[in-house]
Amino acid sequence: MTEPVPTTCMRCAVGCGLLERGVDTGYGLARVRGDTNHPVNRGLACRRGVDETTNPAGERLTRPLVREDGQLVPTSWERAIGLVVSRIESSLADRRDGVAVLGSGQQTNEAAYLLGKLARGVLGTRYYDANTTLCMASAVTAYYEAFGSDAPPPTYEDVPEADTHVVWGANPAVGHPVMYRWIADSASEPDGELIVVDPVESETVDDADCHVQLDPGTDLALARAVLARIVERGDVDGPFVEAHTEGFDALRESLPRPEAAAAVAGVSTGVVDRLAEAMSAPTLIYWGMGVNQSVQGTDTARALIDLCLVTGNLGPGTGPFSLTGQANSMGTRVCSSKGTWPGHRPFDDPVHRETVADAWDVPVDRLPDDSGPGPVGIVGAIADDPLDVCWTVATNPVAGMPDTGRVREALAGTFLIAQDAFRTETVELADVVLPAATWGESEGTVTNMERRISRVRAATDLAPKVKSDADIIAAVGSVLDSGAFPDPTADPEATFDELCALTAGTPADLSGVSYDRLDRELAVRWPAPTPDAEGGYRYVTDDGWTFPTESSRAAFSTGTHGGLAEPPDEEYPLTLTTGRRPDAYNTGIRSRELGDEAEPIARVHPETALERIESLDRGRTVITSRRASVTVTVQPDDGVPPGLVWLPIHHPAVNELTLPVVDPRSDEPNVKQCAVGLRAPDRPEPESSFGTPGVTGTNPSS
Ligand code: SF4
Repeated sequence: MTEPVPTTCMRCAVGCGLLERGVDTGYGLARVRGDTNHPVNRGLACRRGVDETTNPAGERLTRPLVREDGQLVPTSWERAIGLVVSRIESSLADRRDGVAVLGSGQQTNEAAYLLGKLARGVLGTRYYDANTTLCMASAVTAYYEAFGSDAPPPTYEDVPEADTHVVWGANPAVGHPVMYRWIADSASEPDGELIVVDPVESETVDDADCHVQLDPGTDLALARAVLARIVERGDVDGPFVEAHTEGFDALRESLPRPEAAAAVAGVSTGVVDRLAEAMSAPTLIYWGMGVNQSVQGTDTARALIDLCLVTGNLGPGTGPFSLTGQANSMGTRVCSSKGTWPGHRPFDDPVHRETVADAWDVPVDRLPDDSGPGPVGIVGAIADDPLDVCWTVATNPVAGMPDTGRVREALAGTFLIAQDAFRTETVELADVVLPAATWGESEGTVTNMERRISRVRAATDLAPKVKSDADIIAAVGSVLDSGAFPDPTADPEATFDELCALTAGTPADLSGVSYDRLDRELAVRWPAPTPDAEGGYRYVTDDGWTFPTESSRAAFSTGTHGGLAEPPDEEYPLTLTTGRRPDAYNTGIRSRELGDEAEPIARVHPETALERIESLDRGRTVITSRRASVTVTVQPDDGVPPGLVWLPIHHPAVNELTLPVVDPRSDEPNVKQCAVGLRAPDRPEPESSFGTPGVTGTNPSS
């Protein structure tokens, strides 16, 4: 029997410590359980985290593949890497920015850092981002604008200290089960309460003391109605606002009448009063993709931060706390060189650019001048330009991005390199497939949503023809630039040390963290500038408040509700929204067999189903948007308001329908609402664009 190995769950960003035991013979994990010594979870773990780690569904990639005569066929690593390098070199010989790189919040810090070093320092491309922009970029942008830094102020230690827990546009009961246990426990205390703001009923709503069922896409209107009511009631924390904030007068002048804004949100003024009153107690506001995935995601997240600022709910036991989805979204922000250089160094600052170029041993003028577009803009550039090469790492844009018909068409028109542990919709399109290690098979670190770094370790040997993400990146990098990548394999500890050294003196200082320290303490929260320092609640110290803004004050905002990006009309009279299910995560690639998915199940209010009865055939209908049509099974559900259609985010067909417009400040796409109609399914069943029974093709690539 192998010994249990202490590591960290990489299924979600709660960051639970796990003990993993490898199988006695062969490759894989035999047993996984929560680690009672780990300071984050003290032995707790959720079913999904354990199951998807131990025994994931989906087909593992076990050897490199290349496309020959239209088919993916096995090849050697030498040939696969050789092809990747030659296509990249030939693109670089022609032009800069001919290669796009799409990374992931599911890589270790080490792999994300090396991918950024390769993309920015070796390729010098603008066209580089991670899928984290698809889920939490609006929250990040809001934190930067309000606080001058992207770190959420609270930590998990604040959860039991709060009385009011407001969950806004999120479903942590299924998204973040271990953290939700702490929220639910605190909310069930005598002074506690749980308020959930969501257009639809959910597992979190089931536990709520109050469900605020606003109209889809009106979160900003509701937040500003509550702000206006707080000002009207005289509940502003004057001393805090006076001493530590700026922009309050502009905010106050911009506020709507609460009654008018409540009407826009489709709620009563009583609901607005309820929220305003609740915030007089110590309050934590948590939010997720229901807020962030909107053309007004940043403005809405700013308004939620404003609610905390105006009521003085900023300090231990209170504050704005965005719920990060992917395990290493936070680490990606610190180390991946997307919007900032490692350690949140400003992208366009010449001194920081010199520092980074020196550390990487690359010419500073090779670094791109700007950080480039987000994933939607990158796909647009591939489609319009087109770029020569696109390299995806641990991400599945053909299922996870909005308007996936357009994504599929764009990626089919370029040389696509797909690096992944599992066969995905994106892998199916690739020209070269690089089989990567997954959790329990590789070494590194991960950073959870409260900024805590902990080790991930291998509890089993790697299958012979599979490599870690970091090793694959190093193998390519060492051929392209042996100065930046001296070795064809990556040493995780040396890579972590290089990353930490580059963050010294920055707002996200990791220089006091080392593998030795993590082995001793299991988890360390940044900023940690010395070997015994650890970050706590951000922006408040024994000396008072310090915000890293020019004025040292936190900033209020004035964004106003602008309406739905694609409102319903005569042709598409309903609104589609999406949400999580308990039995899957992200694009569901660890909980389904590729190409064998059942039809998606659409929750529809019984009244809406009855009104559109001519569009139903034996419980099925076709949902149509301006981009595609998807056949679904209808589940009548009065937890969904009339006029709304709800689909799970995890099904690969769902993003055929969604809208690829983005928040102009965060680049996060407006996935949460689009206009749709229903029509009766054709007979016989049309061919699917995925080879699944769930999709009917009206987009150009179907
Ligand atoms: S809550 Fe998240 S990190 Fe914890 S065990 Fe579950 S999936 Fe893993």
